[in-house]
Amino acid sequence: MLAPLCEHWGNPSSPHGRGRNARRAVDDARDRLAAVLHCAHRELTFTSGGTEADNLAIRGVVQRWGAERGRHLVVSAIEHDAVLTTAATLAERGEAEVTVVGCDGDGRVDPDRVAAAVRDDTVLVSLMLANNEVGTLQDVAAAARLVRIRSPLVLVHTDAVQALGRMQVDPAELDVDLLSLSAHKCYGPKGCGALYARWGTHLTAQLDGGGQERGRRSGTENVAAIAGFAVAAELVTRDLRDQTMRQAALRDTLESTILAGARGIRVAALTTPRLPNISALLVDSASADALVAALDVAGVEVSSGSACSSGAAQPSHVMTAMGEDPHATAFLRLSLGRDTSVEDVADAAERIVTAIGAATARGRESVGGSPVRR
Ligand code: PLP
Repeated sequence: MLAPLCEHWGNPSSPHGRGRNARRAVDDARDRLAAVLHCAHRELTFTSGGTEADNLAIRGVVQRWGAERGRHLVVSAIEHDAVLTTAATLAERGEAEVTVVGCDGDGRVDPDRVAAAVRDDTVLVSLMLANNEVGTLQDVAAAARLVRIRSPLVLVHTDAVQALGRMQVDPAELDVDLLSLSAHKCYGPKGCGALYARWGTHLTAQLDGGGQERGRRSGTENVAAIAGFAVAAELVTRDLRDQTMRQAALRDTLESTILAGARGIRVAALTTPRLPNISALLVDSASADALVAALDVAGVEVSSGSACSSGAAQPSHVMTAMGEDPHATAFLRLSLGRDTSVEDVADAAERIVTAIGAATARGRESVGGSPVRR
């Protein structure tokens, strides 16, 4: 990232030497990311992040194909807001009709239900590869196959933002037409991402201007961030197997220590295929906000629900879709990473058990044994 910032700081669209060096940095990054995904470099469009990639996929398809093929979208109930809100906004404006497919108690979306939601006027199906709150993995390949059997022209999108660096992400194996990525979820810089679009998949651009990214996303490229994204993606892919096994083992230890030490706790999606780095705790008779604050003071940074721009925790739509009552059960999302050590896990588990013990005792006292309402 330093070379494009300090040395090759030209505009990649400029014809002079410094500009050509910047262009080479973008081209090189696209080649590297394409190698990670086993796709062609021309199938990748760099964006400002996962949110923009999701928006480009959904709005781009509806605008390009809506009039011809229909304006019906199928999305799952546990998608990130970048998908759910985009679909809802299109529906509110009368630009699309949306069917939301629910999930089971572990956050799994049945591929048959996804395919069954497809209608004659369906233009796009969007099903995330890995959920950001519970980590549950979806069988996107099975859903894509069933959707195509039902209607071969329907385009399939997956939000793979959480998956890169934690499992193999290969759009061809997943049999998807569109796939969203974000750099900062794999240790790259914030404010950078990419949309994979299978060669021949036509989309309407959402930003018009200088025609960068082969007309699909105008605006001068964030060269340093793009270079950083590609290297980060390469690095996380290089030791994917080792890190996946290591983090899953640490997560299991974290969960079993907490389950053994505190009462009234469940781990969401415990026996379901899920990401190795996320653990979603469900705590009865406690306030999530109070727990997050108490743990922050104790030096353990956890979240509850999705972080939104205001920083306030929203009741998790994922937990609600899984059949949990967000007013009766506190949801804590713990995550691990490449730097998490055995000692970190032991230390965090101890502090979490203490905080949960104190919070649930307070919760029971304050409401005479019934769950706290938040
Ligand atoms: N999709 C998923 C599943 C995410 O977890 C996130 C971010 O948390 C996004 C999309 C949005 O990505 P970005 O923050 O790069 O806009």
